[in-house]
Formats: sequence, structure tokens, C-alpha cells
Amino acid sequence: MAERSLRGSGIGFQSLESEEGVEFAARAEVAYDCPDGHTTILPFALEAEVPDFWQCRCGAAGVLRGARDPEPPRTRRQRTHWDMLLERRTIGELEDVLSECLELLRARRGDPAEDRPVAV
Ligand SMILES: [Zn+2]
Repeated sequence: MAERSLRGSGIGFQSLESEEGVEFAARAEVAYDCPDGHTTILPFALEAEVPDFWQCRCGAAGVLRGARDPEPPRTRRQRTHWDMLLERRTIGELEDVLSECLELLRARRGDPAEDRPVAV
């Protein structure tokens, strides 16, 4: 087995490498506060560029504690089909299109007075 062959090496579990001369990157703990009061603490290497925002576990943007005048995160609101439609047409135009379509539909059914749903 792997364990036995390791023991057989005569070195035991001690690594020949020592930590002498190994320099760990200096770290700093950075705190982010989200609007809901959650705090996220992350270790960053000192030379690392620490972002002004970090997404909290709740999904909100946590703000770097002590950040001066943080740049707000770019929030790209999802455009809905309705938004895109309103970019092309006004409500008045949409109402015209709607009544046109309704007229066509009623004409095709040949029963303009009745407004029953289409049978499935
Ligand atoms: Zn949060």
C-alpha cells in the first residue's frame, strides 16, 4: 500500500523541505459590508489590488470597509421584451396595433360581437 511504501522510505512523514527561506505573501483581511448588514471577510495579499465591491452571499454588493468614495458597481439591468418594445413604439402606437389585430381577428372569425377565447 501507499502508506507502507512511504514508511519504507525511512524518512517517515517528514518532508525534506523545510519552511526555512519560504516567504509567505503578506496578507491582510479585508471586510465588505453589504446593505443588509452581512460582513464578508477575505484575505488578500498585500500587493493584490483589492476591489471596492464584493458580492455578498445574499447577492447584494458588499462595499469595501473604509473605502473612500467607492465607484458603484456597474449594474446592468436586464432589459425585458417590454422595455425593448417601448424603445420602438409608444403606448399610443401599441394601442393602435392592438386594435388593428383585434379587428383582423374578429373579421377572420366572422363574429365581431362575440369576444370568446379561441377554442383549443
Ligand atoms: Zn448580504
